[in-house]
Amino acid sequence: MNHSDSERVSQVMQKAGFKLTEEDLADLLIVNTCSVRQKAEDKAYGFMTKHKRANKNVKIAITGCMVRQTGDRENSRDPLFSFDSIDIAFRIEDTARMPKLLERHFREHDFSQFEEAFGDGSIENYFNIVPKVENKAQVFVPIMQGCDKFCTYCIVPFTRGREISRPLEDVLAECKVLVEAGAKEITLLGQNVNSYKDGEKGEKCFAKLLLEVDKLHVMGLSRTRFTSAHPQDFTDDVIDALAHMKTRCPYIHLPVQHGSNQTLRAMNRNYTIDKYNDIIAKIRTAMPDTTLATDIIVGFPGETEEQFQELCDFADELKLDFSYTAIFSPRKHTPAARMEKEFIDMEEKKSRFHRFDEIVKKHAFAQRAKFVGKEVEVLVEKSEVAENGLYRNAGRTREFFEVWFLAGRPLKGKEVMVTLDEQKGYVFSGTMPEVEAILYAAPALLKVLAV
Ligand code: SF4
Repeated sequence: MNHSDSERVSQVMQKAGFKLTEEDLADLLIVNTCSVRQKAEDKAYGFMTKHKRANKNVKIAITGCMVRQTGDRENSRDPLFSFDSIDIAFRIEDTARMPKLLERHFREHDFSQFEEAFGDGSIENYFNIVPKVENKAQVFVPIMQGCDKFCTYCIVPFTRGREISRPLEDVLAECKVLVEAGAKEITLLGQNVNSYKDGEKGEKCFAKLLLEVDKLHVMGLSRTRFTSAHPQDFTDDVIDALAHMKTRCPYIHLPVQHGSNQTLRAMNRNYTIDKYNDIIAKIRTAMPDTTLATDIIVGFPGETEEQFQELCDFADELKLDFSYTAIFSPRKHTPAARMEKEFIDMEEKKSRFHRFDEIVKKHAFAQRAKFVGKEVEVLVEKSEVAENGLYRNAGRTREFFEVWFLAGRPLKGKEVMVTLDEQKGYVFSGTMPEVEAILYAAPALLKVLAV
């Protein structure tokens, strides 16, 4: 979500006459923050302090989940301004107001180029900003913002506000423009994508949205992904839609957060483990090739050894392909942050984290091992110069496995077939047939030259 937000901020700033540059050369740094864990906030503060110390003239603007109120020191009471390094703060939906806020700080800059192109600060206008995409082949499209679920550990409903969905027509129009410009993979984004409605007053219709986006297959769209989904809204029609999609990726990321019903209740997750297992069973029946990833919080306040064991057993049975596992970290203003009496000792939390991680790795590595020797489709995300005139390319399979391979040219943005030769942990190395051809052909060519 932050990546996608940054692409919209980048569009507004470039319309206002600013240019992207290196961190150390910038007159203005915009820090797009995440507050899901304390560590993320600490990193943001560290980054801002480092740059303000190195150059006191640099202006620092902050946005994202840490910001409550748009403004600057003179007109905002956002507690963030107790931190000296920050000059401006803006809520992400107020992105269009950024140039106005900057005028006072950059008096020599000509802001007339920015003709209020994106209207005023509102979530509707925010959605209408066409992002300055970083990688044309792989794009992110927000379909909704905010969350109504109020999990007891989570700060999102307080920072991003209540759920607001974009009209279906607008989402599809943006997807179409992106596919026409070369997008091969679209990731639909939201805190709770599957509770998507068609605009504010519409019915829940995530399945319909998936099927509509899938129609862009005829224009060149190859992959549709989405994140994040919630088990409560993972209805049968969504599974059915997925099973019929040409652009489906056999990868589901469905956060469960814990394996004990008691802990799920304390987290206010509103489903049981049986319900979650039932959804996964339906997915695996309809689409047996699906790989499964989830999110887990280890060491939630009051988590007993027994409850932790339930989590381990659950993971063992489910055979996850990946888990984004986090150690519980209290976020201010959330109900879980007030459960101090039940907080678990950090050493114990770390030990549980490692024990759980071993279970996930056992299954994830064993399942990946079955792919060695197979030829798979990889969408290349980055390419860098290697030795011998070759390029090291990295991308993801449709199952979301990371693959590295050599090729005779940079292939960023291309979908190519790669044979998976070796698996090290979560990552594969592979070979492209054309590189094999170069390597085998080389001695023969040399012989011809020698003759
Ligand atoms: S559903 Fe996700 S975003 Fe919403 S409150 Fe729960 S964890 Fe946070």
